[in-house]
Amino acid sequence: MTSLWKIAPSAPAGSPFVPGERHDAIVVGAGLTGLSTAVMLARRGLDVAVVEAGSPGELASGSNTGKLSLLQSDRLGEIRRQHPAGLVRAYVDANRSGMRWMLAFAEQAGVPFTRRRDHAYASGRSGLDSIRRTYEAAREAGLPARMLAGSDVRELPFPVAGAVALDDQVTIDPMALVAALAQELIATGGRLHTGVRVTGARALPESRIETAQGPLFAPHIVLATGTPILDRGLYFAKVRGQRSWCVSFRVPGDVPAQTYISVDGDTHSIRPVSPGDGPADAANLIVGGNGHPVGREPHEAAGLDELAHWTRRHFPGAEETHRWSAQDYESHNLIPFVGALPRGLGRIRLATGYAKWGLSNAPAAALRLTAEILGDPLGDRAEWMRAIGTRLTVPSDIGRGIAEGGRVAVRMTSGWADAAQPVPVARPAEGEGVVARSGIRLVGISTVDGVTRGVDAICPHLGGVLSWNDAECTWDCPLHASRFAADGTRIEGPAVKDLPQIPRTSDE
Ligand SMILES: Cc1cc2nc3c(=O)[nH]c(=O)nc-3n(C[C@H](O)[C@H](O)[C@H](O)COP(=O)(O)OP(=O)(O)OC[C@H]3O[C@@H](n4cnc5c(N)ncnc54)[C@H](O)[C@@H]3O)c2cc1C
Repeated sequence: MTSLWKIAPSAPAGSPFVPGERHDAIVVGAGLTGLSTAVMLARRGLDVAVVEAGSPGELASGSNTGKLSLLQSDRLGEIRRQHPAGLVRAYVDANRSGMRWMLAFAEQAGVPFTRRRDHAYASGRSGLDSIRRTYEAAREAGLPARMLAGSDVRELPFPVAGAVALDDQVTIDPMALVAALAQELIATGGRLHTGVRVTGARALPESRIETAQGPLFAPHIVLATGTPILDRGLYFAKVRGQRSWCVSFRVPGDVPAQTYISVDGDTHSIRPVSPGDGPADAANLIVGGNGHPVGREPHEAAGLDELAHWTRRHFPGAEETHRWSAQDYESHNLIPFVGALPRGLGRIRLATGYAKWGLSNAPAAALRLTAEILGDPLGDRAEWMRAIGTRLTVPSDIGRGIAEGGRVAVRMTSGWADAAQPVPVARPAEGEGVVARSGIRLVGISTVDGVTRGVDAICPHLGGVLSWNDAECTWDCPLHASRFAADGTRIEGPAVKDLPQIPRTSDE
């Protein structure tokens, strides 16, 4: 499964890793957060090294829908439901600053983008409350949003009950952005180390990161790893990992010229592709959606097939070109976590919780992290940095956290109960995987590309029983969203270790 944005390699190669090197700042993760933070710091004269487990844009940053919008579906309405108007305004101001920085960077780096009107639409009457709430929250936060009746939305090939619209939003190729940020980092004297997994970070006695190739040292460390890889601060329990699908198509005739996302029922996000914002010779439409918690769907492939089927129904003749998937993290209080990690002595920082709106939230986080690291005077910092940094936890935040904690606890025990089959088990069919018992151990057995393998089916992070993702042929943890390849190699999430391999567990 390759994202449309990755069909041609674009990111620069990394520089050799020299263990023991010292820098002013180390950024872990070369996604939009890590690279924009590193570029901002390097431009202010710091010696910065970025350490990336894969390659730039490896995860969500290279596999999203490429909508850079301040409307963000029903997000503003949802935040307003739980928080005071001032916090929604701070969230919008943060995203506006992030968007402004990213577009200025794109213009300077020659990354094209297209201005479009963004819409959040209600497919049925049940979605109208959400549309109105979003409209009111957006207006209250100073955005010139407009309410539209269903009949005003004319270019979609199906009726809608109503929509809220915001002019002058943007579509952009996110991988072109990632590649340009990586180039800029190198041009500004920064280091980019790819294929190096960070396994730990410490503030004392000297702040450092640990990797299999050895340590690096710096007084400032930023964890820009999606969900933070350190358990300190328990952020893995304060966010939930949500995976979503994207499918690109070549559609005969016209496709909608604006962008759309539904707020009720299964999510459908509609995004045209033109030469100004993506590889339009490969595809002219992306449809994303069917988000779900990581590792909790019995048949992942079904959600993907539904998305493709839905598109072909509404856009007759649509030919699928690429399908891909990625995950992002939503904080229980709906506002990203950005700043110093508890007990990190102000030397280790993190940014997470963009809830699938990272194209503006990531540079906003980078602006704030940069101001903190450089010690910019408080009075010089934008008002939104203070408002977001000092927000209170409200009862609904706690409620959402408890509800998610309950779901995690259920998964913790049900995973063991479900794995009733003892080994040896029948060799799984191609693309399938099963969890079986071997004494007191649980073993994940799968067959991929004709190879049957056994791995420890327990997540090395906090002991969750892994489940098989039949769409991507991976082992996914339903507790805190860590994921592993069929051979046990760690892909993402709070886990930092691979799964141990276990030989001879199936009847061949
Ligand atoms: C399906 C989908 C569609 C989306 N669509 C949009 C959209 O249209 N508009 C929008 O604004 N946002 C969208 N988003 C959200 C956006 O993509 C993310 O919020 C954003 O990319 C997050 O960037 P990041 O750099 O924080 O994290 P990531 O992109 O996840 O980057 C983290 C990096 O850290 C690296 N890493 C992790 N662990 C380690 C380790 N131990 N050692 C070294 N490196 C490590 C990873 O390999 C990765 O490269 C979407 C998200 C999804 C899932």
